[in-house]
Amino acid sequence: MPLPRCDYHMHTALCGHATGSLEEYVQQAIALGFAEIGFSDHAPMVHERHPGVTMDLRQLPLYHKLIDEVKNKYGAKIIIKYALEADFVPGFEAKTKEIISGYPYDYIIGSVHYVNGWAVDDPLTIEKWKTQDINQVWRDYFKLFRQSAQSGMFQIMGHCDLPKKFGHRPTVDMAEEVKATAKVFKETGVAVEINTSGLRKPIKEMYPSPQHLKIYYAAGVPLTFGSDAHTPENVGKNFKEAVDLAKSAGYSEYLIFNKCKIERKERI
Ligand code: ZN
Ligand code: FE
Ligand code: FE
Ligand code: ZN
Repeated sequence: MPLPRCDYHMHTALCGHATGSLEEYVQQAIALGFAEIGFSDHAPMVHERHPGVTMDLRQLPLYHKLIDEVKNKYGAKIIIKYALEADFVPGFEAKTKEIISGYPYDYIIGSVHYVNGWAVDDPLTIEKWKTQDINQVWRDYFKLFRQSAQSGMFQIMGHCDLPKKFGHRPTVDMAEEVKATAKVFKETGVAVEINTSGLRKPIKEMYPSPQHLKIYYAAGVPLTFGSDAHTPENVGKNFKEAVDLAKSAGYSEYLIFNKCKIERKERI
Protein backbone atom coordinates (compact mmCIF):
# COMPACT_ATOMS: atom_id res chain seq x y z
CA MET A 1 0.00 0.00 0.00
CA PRO A 2 1.63 3.30 -1.05
CA LEU A 3 2.09 5.75 1.79
CA PRO A 4 1.15 9.40 1.38
CA ARG A 5 4.49 10.85 0.34
CA CYS A 6 3.54 14.24 1.64
CA ASP A 7 3.51 15.79 5.13
CA TYR A 8 1.62 19.08 5.28
CA HIS A 9 1.84 19.89 8.99
CA MET A 10 5.30 20.68 10.37
CA HIS A 11 6.52 23.37 12.73
CA THR A 12 9.81 25.24 13.17
CA ALA A 13 11.70 26.50 16.20
CA LEU A 14 10.38 30.01 15.50
CA CYS A 15 7.16 29.19 17.37
CA GLY A 16 9.19 28.76 20.53
CA HIS A 17 8.13 25.18 21.38
CA ALA A 18 9.58 23.17 18.47
CA THR A 19 13.16 22.02 18.06
CA GLY A 20 15.57 21.34 15.22
CA SER A 21 16.57 23.20 12.08
CA LEU A 22 14.39 23.29 8.97
CA GLU A 23 17.17 21.39 7.25
CA GLU A 24 16.75 18.50 9.69
CA TYR A 25 12.99 18.34 9.00
CA VAL A 26 13.69 18.30 5.26
CA GLN A 27 16.38 15.65 5.58
CA GLN A 28 14.04 13.42 7.58
CA ALA A 29 11.35 13.77 4.90
CA ILE A 30 13.85 12.91 2.16
CA ALA A 31 15.08 9.91 4.17
CA LEU A 32 11.47 8.69 4.33
CA GLY A 33 11.18 9.01 0.55
CA PHE A 34 8.67 11.86 0.68
CA ALA A 35 7.99 13.83 -2.50
CA GLU A 36 6.57 16.90 -0.80
CA ILE A 37 6.31 18.67 2.55
CA GLY A 38 4.94 21.93 3.80
CA PHE A 39 6.10 24.06 6.70
CA SER A 40 3.00 25.21 8.58
CA ASP A 41 4.32 26.93 11.64
CA HIS A 42 2.02 28.72 14.07
CA ALA A 43 1.10 32.08 12.53
CA PRO A 44 1.63 35.18 14.66
CA MET A 45 -1.24 35.42 17.16
CA VAL A 46 -3.70 38.12 16.18
CA HIS A 47 -5.28 39.08 19.50
CA GLU A 48 -2.14 39.25 21.64
CA ARG A 49 1.56 38.52 21.39
CA HIS A 50 2.25 34.93 22.30
CA PRO A 51 5.93 34.13 22.80
CA GLY A 52 6.49 30.38 23.20
CA VAL A 53 3.28 29.58 21.30
CA THR A 54 3.58 31.36 17.97
CA MET A 55 6.21 33.32 16.11
CA ASP A 56 6.06 37.08 16.31
CA LEU A 57 4.90 39.22 13.38
CA ARG A 58 8.43 40.53 12.98
CA GLN A 59 9.70 36.98 12.47
CA LEU A 60 7.65 36.28 9.34
CA PRO A 61 10.37 37.52 6.97
CA LEU A 62 12.86 35.22 8.74
CA TYR A 63 10.41 32.30 8.46
CA HIS A 64 10.26 32.80 4.71
CA LYS A 65 14.00 33.25 4.43
CA LEU A 66 14.55 29.94 6.27
CA ILE A 67 12.08 28.13 4.00
CA ASP A 68 13.69 29.67 0.91
CA GLU A 69 17.09 28.45 2.09
CA VAL A 70 15.96 24.81 2.26
CA LYS A 71 14.01 25.17 -0.98
CA ASN A 72 17.17 26.35 -2.69
CA LYS A 73 19.29 23.62 -1.19
CA TYR A 74 16.89 20.65 -1.48
CA GLY A 75 14.52 21.73 -4.25
CA ALA A 76 15.80 19.08 -6.64
CA LYS A 77 14.98 16.33 -4.15
CA ILE A 78 11.73 17.41 -2.57
CA ILE A 79 8.98 19.95 -3.11
CA ILE A 80 8.68 22.33 -0.15
CA LYS A 81 5.53 24.38 0.32
CA TYR A 82 4.93 27.64 2.21
CA ALA A 83 2.16 27.37 4.77
CA LEU A 84 0.96 28.53 8.17
CA GLU A 85 -1.24 27.08 10.88
CA ALA A 86 -3.44 30.01 11.85
CA ASP A 87 -5.90 30.28 14.70
CA PHE A 88 -9.44 31.33 14.06
CA VAL A 89 -10.10 34.09 16.59
CA PRO A 90 -13.56 35.68 16.14
CA GLY A 91 -13.34 39.44 15.74
CA PHE A 92 -9.79 39.32 14.41
CA GLU A 93 -10.52 38.01 10.92
CA ALA A 94 -9.17 41.15 9.24
CA LYS A 95 -5.84 40.83 11.04
CA THR A 96 -5.62 37.12 10.19
CA LYS A 97 -6.39 37.91 6.54
CA GLU A 98 -3.68 40.54 6.52
CA ILE A 99 -1.12 38.05 7.80
CA ILE A 100 -2.00 35.20 5.47
CA SER A 101 -2.14 37.44 2.42
CA GLY A 102 1.30 38.87 3.15
CA TYR A 103 3.12 36.05 1.33
CA PRO A 104 2.18 33.65 -1.48
CA TYR A 105 1.23 30.69 0.73
CA ASP A 106 0.43 27.30 -0.77
CA TYR A 107 -2.17 26.54 1.90
CA ILE A 108 -3.24 27.74 5.32
CA ILE A 109 -4.26 25.29 8.04
CA GLY A 110 -7.11 26.69 10.11
CA SER A 111 -6.99 25.50 13.69
CA VAL A 112 -9.11 26.15 16.72
CA HIS A 113 -7.04 25.94 19.89
CA TYR A 114 -9.03 28.60 21.80
CA VAL A 115 -12.60 28.04 22.94
CA ASN A 116 -13.98 31.16 24.63
CA GLY A 117 -10.44 32.46 25.02
CA TRP A 118 -9.13 29.29 26.70
CA ALA A 119 -6.55 27.08 24.97
CA VAL A 120 -8.15 23.64 25.36
CA ASP A 121 -4.92 21.87 24.37
CA ASP A 122 -2.62 23.70 26.79
CA PRO A 123 -1.26 21.47 29.56
CA LEU A 124 -0.71 24.59 31.69
CA THR A 125 -4.47 25.24 31.87
CA ILE A 126 -5.66 21.62 31.96
CA GLU A 127 -7.17 22.20 35.42
CA LYS A 128 -9.83 24.38 33.82
CA TRP A 129 -11.42 21.27 32.31
CA LYS A 130 -12.64 20.37 35.83
CA THR A 131 -14.87 23.42 35.95
CA GLN A 132 -16.19 23.18 32.40
CA ASP A 133 -19.26 21.54 30.91
CA ILE A 134 -17.30 19.19 28.67
CA ASN A 135 -20.11 18.75 26.15
CA GLN A 136 -20.57 22.51 25.87
CA VAL A 137 -16.83 22.95 25.20
CA TRP A 138 -17.20 20.46 22.35
CA ARG A 139 -20.27 22.20 20.92
CA ASP A 140 -18.54 25.58 21.11
CA TYR A 141 -15.46 24.07 19.48
CA PHE A 142 -17.40 22.72 16.50
CA LYS A 143 -19.28 26.01 16.13
CA LEU A 144 -15.97 27.88 15.94
CA PHE A 145 -14.69 25.29 13.48
CA ARG A 146 -17.66 25.90 11.18
CA GLN A 147 -17.10 29.65 11.44
CA SER A 148 -13.43 29.06 10.58
CA ALA A 149 -14.33 27.25 7.37
CA GLN A 150 -16.93 29.89 6.51
CA SER A 151 -14.32 32.64 6.89
CA GLY A 152 -12.79 31.49 3.61
CA MET A 153 -9.30 31.97 5.01
CA PHE A 154 -8.28 28.33 5.20
CA GLN A 155 -7.73 25.38 2.86
CA ILE A 156 -7.21 22.67 5.51
CA MET A 157 -8.83 22.31 8.92
CA GLY A 158 -6.34 21.21 11.56
CA HIS A 159 -6.67 18.42 14.17
CA CYS A 160 -10.46 18.25 13.89
CA ASP A 161 -11.25 16.98 17.39
CA LEU A 162 -8.51 18.62 19.40
CA PRO A 163 -10.45 18.89 22.71
CA LYS A 164 -9.98 15.13 23.19
CA LYS A 165 -6.21 15.62 23.61
CA PHE A 166 -6.08 14.92 27.36
CA GLY A 167 -8.96 12.44 27.33
CA HIS A 168 -11.94 14.79 27.71
CA ARG A 169 -14.28 13.05 25.32
CA PRO A 170 -17.89 14.21 25.11
CA THR A 171 -20.30 12.21 27.25
CA VAL A 172 -23.12 12.56 24.72
CA ASP A 173 -23.14 11.67 21.03
CA MET A 174 -21.61 14.50 18.96
CA ALA A 175 -22.45 12.95 15.58
CA GLU A 176 -24.93 15.71 14.71
CA GLU A 177 -22.34 18.41 15.49
CA VAL A 178 -19.79 16.63 13.31
CA LYS A 179 -22.33 16.15 10.51
CA ALA A 180 -23.18 19.85 10.59
CA THR A 181 -19.47 20.65 10.53
CA ALA A 182 -18.80 18.25 7.66
CA LYS A 183 -21.63 19.83 5.67
CA VAL A 184 -20.08 23.29 6.10
CA PHE A 185 -16.63 21.95 5.20
CA LYS A 186 -18.03 20.45 1.99
CA GLU A 187 -19.88 23.66 1.11
CA THR A 188 -16.86 25.85 1.75
CA GLY A 189 -14.41 23.52 0.00
CA VAL A 190 -11.97 22.96 2.86
CA ALA A 191 -10.15 19.69 3.50
CA VAL A 192 -9.68 17.87 6.80
CA GLU A 193 -6.31 16.52 7.83
CA ILE A 194 -5.43 13.25 9.46
CA ASN A 195 -3.07 14.55 12.13
CA THR A 196 -0.95 11.80 13.65
CA SER A 197 0.23 13.88 16.62
CA GLY A 198 -2.73 12.68 18.69
CA LEU A 199 -0.96 9.33 18.97
CA ARG A 200 1.80 11.12 20.87
CA LYS A 201 -0.66 12.78 23.29
CA PRO A 202 -2.47 11.33 26.35
CA ILE A 203 -5.49 10.36 24.20
CA LYS A 204 -3.20 8.20 22.00
CA GLU A 205 -5.50 8.54 18.98
CA MET A 206 -5.04 10.41 15.72
CA TYR A 207 -7.19 13.46 14.96
CA PRO A 208 -9.94 13.03 13.93
CA SER A 209 -11.39 9.86 15.47
CA PRO A 210 -12.38 7.03 13.08
CA GLN A 211 -16.08 7.80 13.67
CA HIS A 212 -15.64 11.47 12.81
CA LEU A 213 -13.49 10.76 9.76
CA LYS A 214 -16.23 8.50 8.36
CA ILE A 215 -18.66 11.41 8.64
CA TYR A 216 -16.27 13.75 6.78
CA TYR A 217 -15.79 11.15 4.05
CA ALA A 218 -19.53 10.57 3.70
CA ALA A 219 -20.02 14.34 3.30
CA GLY A 220 -17.43 14.46 0.50
CA VAL A 221 -14.79 16.43 2.40
CA PRO A 222 -11.28 15.90 0.94
CA LEU A 223 -8.21 14.88 2.94
CA THR A 224 -4.59 15.78 3.69
CA PHE A 225 -1.99 14.17 5.95
CA GLY A 226 0.09 15.87 8.63
CA SER A 227 2.40 14.78 11.42
CA ASP A 228 2.23 18.10 13.30
CA ALA A 229 5.94 17.49 13.90
CA HIS A 230 7.58 19.79 16.43
CA THR A 231 10.84 17.80 16.18
CA PRO A 232 12.55 16.49 13.01
CA GLU A 233 12.14 12.83 14.01
CA ASN A 234 8.36 13.21 14.04
CA VAL A 235 8.15 14.17 10.35
CA GLY A 236 5.98 11.58 8.58
CA LYS A 237 5.43 9.79 11.88
CA ASN A 238 2.80 7.01 11.91
CA PHE A 239 1.75 7.65 8.32
CA LYS A 240 1.14 3.95 7.77
CA GLU A 241 -1.46 4.04 10.57
CA ALA A 242 -2.82 7.24 9.04
CA VAL A 243 -3.37 5.50 5.70
CA ASP A 244 -5.12 2.63 7.46
CA LEU A 245 -7.39 5.15 9.16
CA ALA A 246 -8.06 6.98 5.88
CA LYS A 247 -8.91 3.79 4.03
CA SER A 248 -11.14 2.48 6.80
CA ALA A 249 -13.17 5.70 6.47
CA GLY A 250 -13.41 5.22 2.69
CA TYR A 251 -10.70 7.59 1.45
CA SER A 252 -8.45 6.64 -1.48
CA GLU A 253 -7.01 10.08 -2.27
CA TYR A 254 -5.46 13.13 -0.66
CA LEU A 255 -4.93 16.68 -1.88
CA ILE A 256 -1.88 18.59 -3.06
CA PHE A 257 -2.12 22.38 -2.80
CA ASN A 258 -0.34 25.12 -4.69
CA LYS A 259 -0.84 28.86 -4.04
CA CYS A 260 -3.95 28.17 -1.96
CA LYS A 261 -5.58 26.16 -4.76
CA ILE A 262 -6.05 22.41 -5.10
CA GLU A 263 -3.39 21.38 -7.59
CA ARG A 264 -4.23 17.70 -7.86
CA LYS A 265 -5.18 14.54 -6.00
CA GLU A 266 -2.79 11.74 -5.14
CA ARG A 267 -3.83 8.16 -4.47
CA ILE A 268 -3.09 6.22 -1.32
ZN1 ZN B 1 2.74 23.84 18.23
FE1 FE C 1 -2.48 23.13 16.46
FE1 FE D 1 0.54 22.26 14.45
ZN1 ZN E 1 -1.36 21.82 15.27
